Amino acid sequence: MDIQTINWQDVEEKATTYLSQYLQINTTNPPGNEIKGARFLKDIFDHEGIENEIVESGPGRGNLVARIKGTGNKPPLLLLSHIDVVPAEEEKWTYPPFSGKIVGKEIWGRGALDCKSLGIMETLTLILLKKTNVLLKRDVVMAATADEEKGGQSGVAWLCKNRPEFNRFEVVINEGGGVGLVRKTKNFYLCQAGEKGACWFRIIFKGTPGHGSIPREDNCILALGRSIEALGRYHAQIKMPQIVERFIQGFSEDEEIAPILRNLLKEPVRAEEILEAMPDEGFKKLLLAMIHNTFVPTVVKGGEKVNVIPSECYCEVDCRILPGETIEGVKKEIARILDGIPQYTIQEIQCATASESDFSHEIVKIFREALVKHDPKARIIPFISSGATDSRYLRNGKTFAFGFAPLLVEGDLARHQDMVHGHNERIAKKDLVFGIKVLFDIVRGYCA
Ligand SMILES: [Zn+2]
Repeated sequence: MDIQTINWQDVEEKATTYLSQYLQINTTNPPGNEIKGARFLKDIFDHEGIENEIVESGPGRGNLVARIKGTGNKPPLLLLSHIDVVPAEEEKWTYPPFSGKIVGKEIWGRGALDCKSLGIMETLTLILLKKTNVLLKRDVVMAATADEEKGGQSGVAWLCKNRPEFNRFEVVINEGGGVGLVRKTKNFYLCQAGEKGACWFRIIFKGTPGHGSIPREDNCILALGRSIEALGRYHAQIKMPQIVERFIQGFSEDEEIAPILRNLLKEPVRAEEILEAMPDEGFKKLLLAMIHNTFVPTVVKGGEKVNVIPSECYCEVDCRILPGETIEGVKKEIARILDGIPQYTIQEIQCATASESDFSHEIVKIFREALVKHDPKARIIPFISSGATDSRYLRNGKTFAFGFAPLLVEGDLARHQDMVHGHNERIAKKDLVFGIKVLFDIVRGYCA
C-alpha cells in the first residue's frame, strides 16, 4: 500500500472498533490491571506483524512496547500513552463507562479522552507505517504504560529505571495537550511543553492535650483551622514564565482574546480581574494556573474523641509550582503564609519541580506543518499544564517531551475539561481519525 491509497474510511472503522474494545477493558487504577489492556494491544500488533513485547513491572502491571525499526541513524521517537484510567461513578453516566458504546458519531467510555484514544491513534500510526513501508531513519517506539493515574511508579518511572532505552529518546509525544480551541478565524492548538511541579506537604501542628471541657489557647486544632483558612485565602504573586509570553504572542491574531492578554502583560497584578473578560472559563483557569504557584489544602486529620483535646493534628497541602521555583522556596512561602501560627512543622510527602521542553525544537515545526495540512486554520501555541503527566520522568537535557494529542474542541474548553476524569467521557469518530492523520504525518515528517 502506498500513502496515497490509504483508505481513511477503513482506518476510521478500524480505529473505532479498536477503541470501543479497548474501552471495554476495565483498567481502573487502583488496582490498574493494565496487563489486560497490554494483551489486547499485543494481539493487534501480533496480527499486524509488528515487533512488540509486554513488560511487567509487577503482578498485573503490564506495559506494552511496540516498535517499527528505522536505520538507527538518528535517536528514536517515543509515542506514549497510558493504559490505566481513573474510577468512574457508573450511576452518573448516560451509558455504562466500560461499555465502549458507539452512539451515533461518538464512542463512549472511561478513557475515551484520557487517554485510550491516544493509544489507538498511536497504534494505527504504527500499523500505517508498517503497511506503507515508510523508510525510517529513527526507530518509532510506542509505549502504552501502567499506573499514570497514580504517579507512574509501575509504569514510566519503572521503565526509565529498568529499560535504559527510555532515557535515550530524542522526542516523546504524549498526552497532556493538543486540544484545539475553535475561535472566529483560527483554531488554536495548545501543545503542552511543560508542567508545573507538584509538591505535596504535610503540616503537623502540636499543642497541649487536655480535657475538652476546658478551652485552651494552644489547642492544635485551632492552629490547624487558622492555617487552612490562610492557605485557602492566599493569592501567590503573579509571575510570567517565558512560555507564558509565547502563549500570549500566539493569540495575537485573535481580536477578542489579544486585547485581554495585552492588558494582562501590562498589569499582571490585576490578573484575576482582567481574565474575567475571557470568553471561556476553561481558558481563564488554564492561564491563571500558568502564572502563579497554588496552595490547596486537601486532607485534614486530627482528634479521636469529642471530649479530648489532641496533642497533634495535621493537614496536607497540594502545591503546584512554576518553572524556576524550588522546593525550598515553596516551603519558605508556606512559612510566610503561616506567619504567627505556633508550633508546626512541614514534612515533604513527595515533591518535584516543574519540567519543561524547549518549544524551539525542530519537532514543533513538524507539528505545525502536519496540523495545517489537515486543518488550514490551525495555529500551535505552547502552554504549561497545572497537572502532571508521565512526561516529567522523560524530560531531561536530551529528551524533549510534548503533550500533543491533536483534537479540535467544538464549543467550550471547560466542558471538554469536565469530561476528563468526569462523567460521560466520549470522543467523536472524526476526531479520532483526525488525530491519526496528524500523528502519521508528524511521524513521517520527523522520522522518514
Ligand atoms: Zn491521562
